[in-house]
Amino acid sequence: MATAVVIGGGASGLASAYYIQKFLPQFTKVIVLEGSNRLGGWVNTTQNPDGSIFEHGPRSLRPVGEQGSNTLQLAEELGLERDILPIFRSDAAAKNRYLYAKGKLCALPNSLMGVVRTIPPFSKPLIRSFALEPLRRRSKTPDETIHSFFSRRLGGEFADIAIDAMCRGIFAGDCRKLSIEACFPPLHEMEKSHGSIVTAALFGSKGAKPAPSGLAKKAAEEKWASWSLARGLQQLTDAMADAVMSRPGVEVRTDSRCIKLEPKENDKMLVQTNSDSITADLVVSAVYSKDLASVLPNAMSDLKEDLSSLPAVSVVTVNLEYKDNVLPVKGFGHLLPSSESGPILGIVYDSCTFPEHNRRGAPDSTRITVMLGGSWFNRLLGRDGELPSGQELVWLATEAAAKHLDIKAHPIRSQAMLQKECIPQYRVGHASWLRGVEEKISSARLPLKLVGSSYRGPAINDCINNARKAVLSLKQS
Ligand SMILES: Cc1cc2nc3c(=O)[nH]c(=O)nc-3n(C[C@H](O)[C@H](O)[C@H](O)COP(=O)(O)OP(=O)(O)OC[C@H]3O[C@@H](n4cnc5c(N)ncnc54)[C@H](O)[C@@H]3O)c2cc1C
Repeated sequence: MATAVVIGGGASGLASAYYIQKFLPQFTKVIVLEGSNRLGGWVNTTQNPDGSIFEHGPRSLRPVGEQGSNTLQLAEELGLERDILPIFRSDAAAKNRYLYAKGKLCALPNSLMGVVRTIPPFSKPLIRSFALEPLRRRSKTPDETIHSFFSRRLGGEFADIAIDAMCRGIFAGDCRKLSIEACFPPLHEMEKSHGSIVTAALFGSKGAKPAPSGLAKKAAEEKWASWSLARGLQQLTDAMADAVMSRPGVEVRTDSRCIKLEPKENDKMLVQTNSDSITADLVVSAVYSKDLASVLPNAMSDLKEDLSSLPAVSVVTVNLEYKDNVLPVKGFGHLLPSSESGPILGIVYDSCTFPEHNRRGAPDSTRITVMLGGSWFNRLLGRDGELPSGQELVWLATEAAAKHLDIKAHPIRSQAMLQKECIPQYRVGHASWLRGVEEKISSARLPLKLVGSSYRGPAINDCINNARKAVLSLKQS
């Protein structure tokens, strides 16, 4: 009888437990330890009493690629098919994205005309950058920042505005510090293999990908751009939790923090929680790497030091709901490049992307989420380093909505939430850092697998797919 312990009950931990019970029957006991009183981690949806939904963490998933197909397959296995809310590529919420720069809301090009003409905030047509890209030299370094990669390939202005804002939207991070190799592995690979991302996109071999089946096939045929669920994305982690808890031998414990991990003889580990100790044949760490470092013994100081060196940024989300349709445009939302002063990263137009999540009987109500902080969290802090109160954060967000979107109405509902160290930052050299960490684990013969947003991508699709791969790697060995 073998025991697996999964530390962390977020998307990665729940997916790990799901795949262990699916693929590794030798583990007759699977215990998920979640330190807080709820499952889901950063996946966190509030259902308001009148039916409106506030997402405090992730709000939509992409259906494409191996990772996207895998999550759709999981959704299918969990019986969520009927509750899927797709956004089609032809929808305004998929086509229209905006930048707020130099005091103006600017639509990003979504057609050929848009790249041929000069459109603000850019000073020249974007087609020039793309036409010249195949002529740019390859990098000679194994990794570099996202900003330097795009400056080299598509020009400084494109990197300063579009890429800078995009990285704030995806990673709440600074493209002048983040790694191209770790954050955008396909683009890094395209340059390495073809010398150009444009050439690789146009003429590169698409590789022998397995034909999608089931929901992934439907998503491809119907041209979905992204999707959510009828009760918000927490419905996915709730369904994963229900599925694993319904299996014999699987135990999911909340308010159960791992406080110490210790290697034992015979390649086992002792997992100490706040209430008992478990001898495990396999430990899956599905927590932020710094949290893992904090429970390892001092004798593993090298590994502890490595794991605790990965930085993560904090984000404040402010969800606002207005009575009527107060948005002047239709689209996914807008982002601000870091050259705009202030703590606002961007605003997501939730009621435009998922009107199904508006409150009952009020299809024209508006829900938006204002994102603040990230790598620029100190712009939020007062003179003595204090964070504004919840009320002040709502006021800051409401002011931003008024300034960027000319929304004069007052929100009828609001919720501000601080998400501390929620998005790990993959700095230049992250991939070699990860290799070093995994080598140390392997040479210490620890029965320990690393999954979660600290390592190979922070998107939910990455977290779930990497959990599956980590589990499958044990099946083959
Ligand atoms: C504001 C925001 C917006 C986002 N938007 C998107 C999006 O639109 N699309 C997308 O794909 N992704 C998005 N993400 C990223 C995605 O939500 C996260 O990367 C993902 O949820 C991380 O899941 P995880 O399970 O790896 O980690 P976590 O969610 O951090 O889960 C780890 C869990 O471990 C627990 N824990 C920690 N220490 C211990 C311990 N010692 N013992 C036991 N338990 C412990 C924690 O309480 C937590 O529940 C967003 C993230 C944020 C914060």
